[in-house]
Amino acid sequence: MNTDIAQLVSVGLFSPKPDETIAFFHDYLGMMVTHREGQSAYLRAYEDFYQYTLKITEAAQPGLEEITWRASSQEGLERVVGRIKASGMSGAWTDKDYAHGPAYQFCMPEDHTMKILWDLEYFKAPPELRSKLRNRPSKRPLHGIPVRRIDHANLMVCDVKLNRDFMVDVLGFKLREQKEGSDGGPVGAWLSVSNLVHEIAMMRDPSGVRGRFHHVAYWYGVPQHLHDLADVLAENDIPMEGGPAKHGATQAYFLYCFEPGGNRIELFGDNGYQIFDPDWQTVVWDVANEADLLRSSIWYGGQLPRSFYRYGTPVVPGYSLEELNA
Ligand code: FE
Repeated sequence: MNTDIAQLVSVGLFSPKPDETIAFFHDYLGMMVTHREGQSAYLRAYEDFYQYTLKITEAAQPGLEEITWRASSQEGLERVVGRIKASGMSGAWTDKDYAHGPAYQFCMPEDHTMKILWDLEYFKAPPELRSKLRNRPSKRPLHGIPVRRIDHANLMVCDVKLNRDFMVDVLGFKLREQKEGSDGGPVGAWLSVSNLVHEIAMMRDPSGVRGRFHHVAYWYGVPQHLHDLADVLAENDIPMEGGPAKHGATQAYFLYCFEPGGNRIELFGDNGYQIFDPDWQTVVWDVANEADLLRSSIWYGGQLPRSFYRYGTPVVPGYSLEELNA
């Protein structure tokens, strides 16, 4: 198994309310804006080592702009680009983005945009933001319930197998967990290049619309912070969808909420378990089995509402939160 991709770098989101979206990440999640350019703002958490892990770009509809991955080396970048080209998927080199060197941008089988690079800029804290901890790239913020780093992204796809196989066969991800439906085909997949259970997940989109986005997750490492954040979100009418609770798949402690632009955001209190076994056998949940279905989603805590399995961005007719929760 190759490891030509090493790490999730950043997620770019579209927002029809960029000022409110940026304020959400700053005020509630304690993130900082490191750069603004054109219609975009770039943000990072206080233990994100690179210049940004979140890009917010103004657009008519919420949704995913792109996901950026870092290769394990320049040679690894060239190898994975060679495999993407050989797969027939469309792509092109770009060097236009802030703080990122040459990157190969390409489309996933259902048009989610991704980018892979090797060169990028690290965040260098100015004196007033410098931490006394030499392994922390900036001081812990004094506002919000500050997240520590980006964790993962989740895509909605019409054909899980098609997208899963691209991630495994072309990009070199490992399939860590999978949910299989009554037809035996996958309805959800969790994939990683590190010992995390996933840097990316995908779940079946019942709307039949391609290219939708489910959520991006930031990590606390301390489950109590989910309760602290939930308290603050409730005080300020920021809608929450599920949690704080614990997933069966991945075993992570989670909270889902919606930023003002409409994108779903997940907070991870804890990653659950980690994988060190080089011969890992994919964990399979049989979601045609009612008990497995419920347990894989929720180990304990309240059940997830209908919207969790149907709402994504951009929002499509019949699948708005209002319609799904009516
Ligand atoms: Fe997630």
